[in-house]
Formats: sequence, structure tokens, C-alpha cells
Amino acid sequence: MMRALMVALPPDMPSLFDTLRFDNTFLAELPGDPDTGARRREVRGALWSRVTPTPVAAPRTLAVSREMAATLGLRDDDVASETFAQVFAGNALLPGMDPFATNYGGHQFGHWAGQLGDGRAISLGETVNATGDRWELQLKGAGATPYSRSADGRAVLRSSIREFLCSEAMHHLGVPTTRALSLVATGEDVVRDMFYDGHPKPEPGAVVCRAAPSFLRFGHFELPSSRGEVDLLRQLTDFAIRRDFPHLAGSGEALYADWFAEVCTRTARLMAEWMRVGFVHGVMNTDNLSILGLTIDYGPYGWIDAYDPEWTPNTTDAGGRRYRFGWQPAVARWNLVRLAQAISPLFAGGEALQAGIDAFGGAYTVADRDNTARKLGLAECRDDDVALIRDLHGSMQEAEVDMTLWFRALMDVDIDAPTLKPLEESFYDPAKREAHGAQFDDWLQRYAARLREDTLSAADRRERMRLANPKYVLRNYLAQEVIDRAEAGDAAGIGELLEAMRRPYDDIPVGGRADSERYAAKRPDWARDRAGCSMLSCSS
Ligand code: AMP
Ligand code: MG
Repeated sequence: MMRALMVALPPDMPSLFDTLRFDNTFLAELPGDPDTGARRREVRGALWSRVTPTPVAAPRTLAVSREMAATLGLRDDDVASETFAQVFAGNALLPGMDPFATNYGGHQFGHWAGQLGDGRAISLGETVNATGDRWELQLKGAGATPYSRSADGRAVLRSSIREFLCSEAMHHLGVPTTRALSLVATGEDVVRDMFYDGHPKPEPGAVVCRAAPSFLRFGHFELPSSRGEVDLLRQLTDFAIRRDFPHLAGSGEALYADWFAEVCTRTARLMAEWMRVGFVHGVMNTDNLSILGLTIDYGPYGWIDAYDPEWTPNTTDAGGRRYRFGWQPAVARWNLVRLAQAISPLFAGGEALQAGIDAFGGAYTVADRDNTARKLGLAECRDDDVALIRDLHGSMQEAEVDMTLWFRALMDVDIDAPTLKPLEESFYDPAKREAHGAQFDDWLQRYAARLREDTLSAADRRERMRLANPKYVLRNYLAQEVIDRAEAGDAAGIGELLEAMRRPYDDIPVGGRADSERYAAKRPDWARDRAGCSMLSCSS
């Protein structure tokens, strides 16, 4: 039943694997590369290449998302099986799987980079689950593809842990994202020069299985367009609308216009969500933006500890800070303009594309104002509330205030006698706290006065704030602690941290675990300047 690539499979194939049904529409409906295998090449006139994962020495499942497994209809004994580890390390294929890598280009750090493609992502196939939802399953780190260029197609354990955990943490926060099913250690080393300083060293390797309704990126549209392959561009656009935006009706240019406008509004809403929770992607190149408005490609991302719109987690970005926290909405818009240019051959004029870009601005403003109202506990965001939160952000930046702790504790402020007392824990530096104390007191007076004018009851306000201001986010240092433990041979921390991130808006420590509170703690001093906690390298 199972097609083994190289290794012999154990006789424990769980029956439920039979329920994963694949229809692989991307392969069935779009032109592919006649050539197969991983020989590096330029692929023209085609959107994908067949390529099998490269088997690894000793697959071992380190972590599984129980929600994602359940969504796919997998049972506990399925995910615990040896077969699961073999399949999701890329050593074996289930019936119906037909692995491929896709072809895309992209603008990297503002410059057109030509063909990029899935250099270390190999899709196993598209499965449709019991409720009719489509999930493409894609291995990251499963070996070379035609698009690997000079690299090896592999991924190290540390970056795989980060992708696995953050995909699921974002999902639980309610932020649109690609998902992660599993994290499997390969039992093989991968050589990486983590600091790009001429000291490469072997690190443990791993494979993440990601899942999404679609992994289409802006760059998928840019590449055929850049080559003048307008028929291919049109085929891809028609396919994307049919498969990924089935609710859109109509035809011709009007349909393309509606589709582009929806891509713009989804992207706007995603940006507002990143800003709400303090997520910094770190590499917002056009090949890393999803057509569905999902967070995609977790690399040197980071979470805001002390509020700072200037912060970028990515060492490669340290010079220009193009991908800094506060700049993300503007970069998304820039990327949408690149997408608009790419699909412009499908339009007679530029009006519809400009309308889409304008829709981005409108949708972002609406979503951002809604977040302001929710984060501050207001029934609605008035014009003067925009200034209220802007002033707060300014003070938080100057005084080095933890974003997550501050907004979470804000609901504990007594509006009849507002003080900084419930908020003390969110300060990192006592001297800065002292220097800005009066400024914050003034702000709290303004805020309390505003709340007294608002229509929400105290209980409703509290609930609104609780659901907008997470208590648990995947702080950089928390992920790094888990990585340190896993690299030392103890992978249990991955599941523990995932558990803590499962209900990020709840007050009660997750699952009643005694040590859960510590997952809500601010960044400790040791983590301030440590690699992996404050800055991250792209080397992964
Ligand atoms: P990223 O900036 O990580 O999204 O990657 C940009 C491009 O480099 C994509 O085409 C990736 O597939 C490719 N890439 C990154 N790392 C590797 C690797 N280890 N092996 C092959 N291709 C890679
Ligand atoms: Mg990428």
C-alpha cells in the first residue's frame, strides 16, 4: 500500500492513514516541468517540478500538533507510529502522495531576485479532509529540489522548532497562518554558519510538516510575469481564484479585480493582527507573502518584548531595518504594489489595481482602529483615541515597557483611581520607569476619563480587553530555552511550550500546570542580548 523510497517500513501502518485522500489539483490543473529530480535548473513555462524527498537516517517524531492531527482525521496511534515518523521525515510516501516543488520568484529586500522556488519545501500532496477542507501537506527541510540553488534543502532543528511552535501559537492567537502538523528529527547533521562569520558547524537536522489550504505566494505571480509568460500567469490566476477563492463569482477583468482587492484586504487584516500581538516577521520579501493573507515562512521572526516599532529580529536586516515592527504595514503595501505590477497584463488599465491598493489602506485603518478599541476596552475607536494610543505607544517606547504585559494588565486599572500599580511588572528599567512615571500617570488620567465616557459595562470592557490582549505569546527567549534543551537531547520542552500557547487569552494557567505562569513572564536579563533571544540569523 505504501510506496517506500528507500527504507523498509515497519508493519504498523495505522488504518487511519487510509483516510488521507489526495486530489493534488496543483499538479492536475497547472503546467509542470517535464524534467524530474533535484538537478538545479531554471524552470520556464511551468509552475512545479516533481521531486521526491531525500530519505534521512533516523526519523524520530519530536512533536505533533494535536489540533492539526485531528483536523486531518489522524488518531493518537497514527501519530505515535513509526510510519508517521517515516512519512513526515520524507522517507516514505502514502498512497496518493505525489511530491513536488513549486516555482516562484520574488523581491528580496526591495530587489528583484529572479527565480527562487521551493528550495527546501516539498509538497507531499493536497488532501481533502472529512469536512471538505483542503490541506496541502508540505515538508520543509526534506532535501534538495530544482530550486535549491547553491543550498542543501535541509533545515536545522533550532529553526524547525521555531517554525513548528510559532505556526501553532499564531493559530491559537487567532492570527491567520500556515499550520504545522509535525516536527521530526532526521538523525542527521546539517552544517550551518549561524553567524555568517566563517565558522560553520554541524547542527542537528529536522523536518517540519506544514499545512495550509494554499502555499501560493506573491512571487508565484511575479515570476511568470517577469518572463512575459502571460498565458501561464492567467492560468495560475484562474486556478488560484477557482481553488482558493471559490466564493468569488463573475468573470474576466471584474473577477480579477475582486480577487486582487480581496488579497489586499486580507493582507491588511493580517498586518493589523501582527501589530496587535507584537509579531515581527523579519523577512517580508514578496516570496514570503501568502496570497491567502496567511503568515508564512517562519524564519528570523521575533516577538516584541519592550515596545519598539524600530526593532527587527533579523541580523541580515539590521542595517536598513526594512522589516522592523512598525514598518510592516507599509512593507506589505509595497509588496502588494509588486503583485499589482505582476498581474497588470491581465488588466486593460490600472484603475482596478489602484482600487485594490486603496482597499489595503482602508482595510488596514478599519482593522487597526478596531484593535485600538479592543486593546483599550472601548466600544469604538474615535478619532481622538488614535492619538490616545499613539501617545501611549510613544511613552512605552521611551520607557522600555513590555507590550504584552502592559496591555494585559491594563484591564486591572481602576478607572476611578488609576495608578501604575497593576502595570509595574511591565517595566524593564527602574530608572526609565522613574523618569517617565509622571508621563504615564497623565496618560492614565486621560484614559480613565475616556473610559468614563464609554458605554461598555466594566465586565464587558474587561472581557473585550482579555480577548484582544494575549497573556501568552511565544517570546523569543522561551523558544530559545526549548531549543537549548532539545539540542542537549531533551525534546519534551517543545510540547510543554506548545501546551502553554494553546489558550493564550485565558487567565488560568494552562492545564493547571504549576509552572505555566512562567510562560507569561517578561524577558529575563540574560536573554537581553543573547543570539536567538534578541537577534536572529537567517541561517536556518
Ligand atoms: P527564505 O528567505 O528563507 O524564505 O528563502 C528564500 C529562498 O531561499 C527560497 O527560495 C528558499 O526555498 C531558499 N532556501 C532557503 N534555505 C534553503 C536551503 N537550506 N536549501 C535550499 N533552498 C533554501
Ligand atoms: Mg521563503
